Amino acid sequence: MSSFDALAFRQFFPFFNHNPEWIYLDTAATSQKPQQVIDAELAFYQQQNSNVHRGAHQLSQHATAAFEAARDSVQQFLNAACRSEIIFTSGTTAAFNQLAFGLMNTILKPGDRILISALEHHANIVPWQLHCQSRGVQLDVIPLDQQLMPDLDVYQQLLALKPKIVSLTQVSNALGHILPLATMLRAAKAAGAITIVDGAQGISWQVPDVQQWPVDFYCFSGHKLYGPTGIGVLYGKQRYLEQLRPLLGGGEMISDVSFQRSSFAALPARLEAGTPNIAGAIGLAAAIEFIRQFDAQQINQYKGELLQQFAAGLSQIPGLSPLTRVEQSAGIISLQLAGEHPNDLAMLLNEQKIAVRAGSHCAMPLFAMLQLPGAVRFAFAAYNLPAEVDVTLQALAAATEILR
Ligand code: PMP
Repeated sequence: MSSFDALAFRQFFPFFNHNPEWIYLDTAATSQKPQQVIDAELAFYQQQNSNVHRGAHQLSQHATAAFEAARDSVQQFLNAACRSEIIFTSGTTAAFNQLAFGLMNTILKPGDRILISALEHHANIVPWQLHCQSRGVQLDVIPLDQQLMPDLDVYQQLLALKPKIVSLTQVSNALGHILPLATMLRAAKAAGAITIVDGAQGISWQVPDVQQWPVDFYCFSGHKLYGPTGIGVLYGKQRYLEQLRPLLGGGEMISDVSFQRSSFAALPARLEAGTPNIAGAIGLAAAIEFIRQFDAQQINQYKGELLQQFAAGLSQIPGLSPLTRVEQSAGIISLQLAGEHPNDLAMLLNEQKIAVRAGSHCAMPLFAMLQLPGAVRFAFAAYNLPAEVDVTLQALAAATEILR
């Protein structure tokens, strides 16, 4: 048994005091926020509010210092080599759109290939597709094996085609499966590819050391790491970030503008056009400070115990078939009820005030490949309790009785 004190951890999250009747199993969509994150955002607006970089006045200097201190926090968190490798975005989706636009306009040439896995979220599919056809670039997909993990034999064959980019999720948001990134990224680098990792789900499972991992770009969203919505991070190795053509043009990202042409500022400003989400960055830094107080291994072990408890209970309920393999999951179990649409099950659980997500989880191609209409996703976090697992299992048993 893990020695992690989930009840004490839960006390940091005011959401649960305000919603005592709810069981929140939708952390994969967004996590709840600890009081210190809420306080940090509020304090900025109440006490410090001013725009960054622009003003000559002291208030603006203070806001700039707080915003740039947040960048330092992220740099330390990921162990990036320098602070200008941390680009603030509005989230993972924005980071991928910047990457696709930036790489398509510089590094990628007609005939080049991009390789993704069949487990990717739409954020790591659609931004590439927006450009692939017009640029003559091919998007290849690593199929899955029996365990619903990337098929590593086919991966080797696809790497032999020399993709310029290999872009993989750390953890599947649809199934919870943790990809074997150590092996996959090393193989991608050996094949000469630029490597990108979608850390939207993975960051709360394992924080990468971006100097140790063979990763050139890493993206994540603050709101899945106990931070605010509307703030995210695009980490990139300096030499690659410098080659990215900016997706957004405007204030802050230039060094000189005439009506004929503009020249761009140095990193990170070059990729941060317009007024940034200042309070969001400060909130994200507070979330990082919050999570660093806890032992990630203990938290993961605890989440694993909740999953085991849930999986054991599921096996007693006829008709339910989990898609997720618990031993390779980062806190998620997705399942199906034979012959029923996932939404029906989720609606019955909603009536019992159990928040889960149903559908294709922004991974439509995955469910098309599996020939399934989607799944019901149960996402467990460190603030969930064993008693909540029991209540959820009872509600599931009752719901399946109704539907069958
Ligand atoms: N990738 C994965 C794996 C995700 O789970 C999500 C969020 N569901 C995203 C990308 C997109 O993140 P956001 O909506 O915060 O931009």
